[in-house]
Amino acid sequence: MAVVYPAVRVATHRALAAREQLVQTYPEWEAWREQARTIKAEVIAHLDDYLEQLTRQVQSWGGEVIYARDAAQARRLILEVAGRHQVNKVVKAKSMTTEEIGLNSALESAGLSVTETDLGEFIVQLAGERPGHLTAPALHLNREQIADLFHARLGVPRQTDPALLSRQGAAVLRSSFGDAQMGITGVNFAAAARGTLVMIENEGNLRLTATVPPVHLALMGIEKIIPSLADLEVLLRLLPASATGQRLTAYVNFIHGLKNQGSAPQAFYLVLLDNGRRRLAAHPQAREALYCLRCGACLNICPIFQLGGGHLYGQVYPGAIGILLAPFLGNGADLADLCSQCGACSLICPVKIDLANQITRLRSQSVRHQALRLLVRATAAIMARPRLYRSLEPGLRLVRNHLPTSLQSYLWGSGRRLPEFAPKSYHRSMEERKN
Ligand code: SF4
Repeated sequence: MAVVYPAVRVATHRALAAREQLVQTYPEWEAWREQARTIKAEVIAHLDDYLEQLTRQVQSWGGEVIYARDAAQARRLILEVAGRHQVNKVVKAKSMTTEEIGLNSALESAGLSVTETDLGEFIVQLAGERPGHLTAPALHLNREQIADLFHARLGVPRQTDPALLSRQGAAVLRSSFGDAQMGITGVNFAAAARGTLVMIENEGNLRLTATVPPVHLALMGIEKIIPSLADLEVLLRLLPASATGQRLTAYVNFIHGLKNQGSAPQAFYLVLLDNGRRRLAAHPQAREALYCLRCGACLNICPIFQLGGGHLYGQVYPGAIGILLAPFLGNGADLADLCSQCGACSLICPVKIDLANQITRLRSQSVRHQALRLLVRATAAIMARPRLYRSLEPGLRLVRNHLPTSLQSYLWGSGRRLPEFAPKSYHRSMEERKN
């Protein structure tokens, strides 16, 4: 059975309409896209130089820089930092990179309590799910479902008004900052020239996460570097416009220097994550996937994503960009077939990543795609021969009913099942009626 999330379609269409309305007011839009692409291309082409520069600059203002080769090493090093500061309570801002390395479960397995402070992340954390979208983690849930969840997990009265739901969530989250010993955030942009880290948000929770606890740890993929703050303006225009149709996010946080917290300055750690990014940067055709700003516009516009939501991909990064990142940053999953080849993602991407053609390239190497093509061809050949189909139909029914769930997910998308056969074929029903 195919899982369809009506909430996803409604929310993605709303975001697309807001984006379109805003972009119409920007005559410079196409020039900005070119400019942003040039900035990202420059960084990815000279990644090691910029990494070195960023490391030096962050160290110069007192931050400790940690380099993590892969997800396992990142988890281990972050746990070491937590141990060094006797951390048992962590507050976290929204960060797909922490999802990528499975940080929450690692911290919780080590006995630490973790509270997601972004409302959407908090909702999926309560639901025990992964985020369903890059910028809107609980996009797949409607307010009825969230009201049920809050009522069951927080013991608050059940009500479905979005503003009141936000207030119910905020009341719980507000109390979590005071006694947390460590705040963990992601990073949107890191300016190598001065070592300034930029984090954008709409709720103000990131600002509290980064400044209230005595330790702040920021985790970023190494591709988030930009040469200098002069490059920021165009990116700060493109990202929120593409994500939600906003001119600017409500908060733009700049971290440069240690915050004084009374008797001692706050400890700061910057974890730089590779986890396949260097390998991707070295790939002459695929490297442009590293230009991604994680705006989510390619998800919003994708007809497959609109139908099945982010969980369909079974990966941290869904949608068109997720298909491109999976072979490098994920578990090597072959998702190239989860694409309708409409090309809309390439047209909407604010850094002009040629997503559709990149997916076509992957498809030509995709074992899963070849398997599905064979299956479709064989099915078509059988169905074009009615007598053959009728003789094979009981066997096909048997195969369908005994197909392992894992194989169905492999062929059809994570968590989805192949459509079931009707209990009886139309032909057989008609024959029985005649007799
Ligand atoms: S690939 Fe482009 S459209 Fe998709 S999330 Fe990244 S920047 Fe946004």
